[in-house]
Amino acid sequence: MWDLHTVRRLPTGQTQLFIGLHLVHEVTTPQAFDTLRARGWKVARPDRTFATTDHIIPTRDQKRPFLDVMAEDMLTSLEHNCRDFGLRFAGLGDDRQGIVHVIGPELGLTQPGMTIACGDSHTSTHGAFGAVAFGIGTSQVRDVLASQCLALEPLKIRRIRVTGRLPRGVYAKDVILTIIRRLGVRGGTGHAYEYAGDAIERMSMDERMTICNMSIEGGARVGYVNPDETTFAYMRGRPFAPDGDAFDRATRWWRSMASDPDASYDDDVEIRADELAPVVTWGVNPEQSVNVGGTIPTPSEKGTDGQAVSDALAYMGLRPGQPIAGMKVDVAFIGSCTNSRLSDLREAARIVAGRKVAPHVTALVVPGSVAVSRAAEQEGLAETFRAAGFEWRSAGCSMCLGMNPDRLVGHQVCASSSNRNFKGRQGSPTGRTLLMSPAMVAAAAISGAVIDVRDLASS
Ligand code: SF4
Repeated sequence: MWDLHTVRRLPTGQTQLFIGLHLVHEVTTPQAFDTLRARGWKVARPDRTFATTDHIIPTRDQKRPFLDVMAEDMLTSLEHNCRDFGLRFAGLGDDRQGIVHVIGPELGLTQPGMTIACGDSHTSTHGAFGAVAFGIGTSQVRDVLASQCLALEPLKIRRIRVTGRLPRGVYAKDVILTIIRRLGVRGGTGHAYEYAGDAIERMSMDERMTICNMSIEGGARVGYVNPDETTFAYMRGRPFAPDGDAFDRATRWWRSMASDPDASYDDDVEIRADELAPVVTWGVNPEQSVNVGGTIPTPSEKGTDGQAVSDALAYMGLRPGQPIAGMKVDVAFIGSCTNSRLSDLREAARIVAGRKVAPHVTALVVPGSVAVSRAAEQEGLAETFRAAGFEWRSAGCSMCLGMNPDRLVGHQVCASSSNRNFKGRQGSPTGRTLLMSPAMVAAAAISGAVIDVRDLASS
């Protein structure tokens, strides 16, 4: 795929790579468009560019102008830029609007065998389709807008085979959090991660997207799954997917993008699915996690970075050796490009049905897109969440990051289905994030503390 998209090798050793799809949102693009305007340049391939709004939009009250002047400015400038440069735009009020990594696949813009770039780290999500997809910075957004190309270093490839059956109550989120714990947050530097093995092959596209989404949290620029029948079935009938004979021709080509059975890898790792358990992060990066039945490590523990553990314990207000189960939570957030798709909401709704959110917990569900929201409402999931005491919000990034009104306050602890637990990530400089699967978040919302979802599901 890399070779097929290579325009030329640069004297620096980098590859000038053609980008098949450029996804655009409001946060990382204003300066890039300003540069184009100042130089009198056009967007090279508007037909390969698609914009939406997600990071800064409020999810409760979307009346314009927004109360937050900076957010209003960002959205207005994206609206102007899309109009001036002739770009397709799924803005507020558009049925196609949503988190950029949710709508790309949903609309069939994301396709196997594509190179995909977007000014957001979690662009690796799209690799679930057998695409080479990666996040880029503002200056690279400018480069892609102006030339539809990027100068990139070739990547090594590590295959991660997940073999065997996942136990009940263990999800794709637990798989990727385990992989990151095992290989480290910097373990994937310079690599693409190929997720393979029978457990991955059995996964739905939603589950594969959850896995690929967090590749970047393990340091890998790119994460992908080889396209197969599950991929092709998902693609069929999507608005921007090929149609009729063109779909059959595309499928033949997509199939040819999968790794050859005798492909060689720079590294090969096996993870046994049947040994996995629900995972919860206890620290300030996604590697700092334990199985829900486990205890917080001590700084002196063999194989741990003592200083990093001490620092994380102090920030999180935790004691070494403390069990993670029972840690009280103040907020429960189900959403983000990792886990805000229909299947995520279905699993979480199964846990909350007929139960009530603990009185001290603020719980919210933020669907990843307008389409997910509508489908969930039609299925009665929204009603299930509301009846349990969850707030049902409009599509957006919400509490994944502190760029909109959905933020933690003070030292609040949040059980979150998102992908980053960095210090201050959820908007409060002292807020604390525990990453887990949406079902585990639902269970924490009900019990008011971290709990093994399998205990709640069977009670
Ligand atoms: S949900 Fe979070 S990680 Fe995903 S695109 Fe939005 S801000 Fe980025």
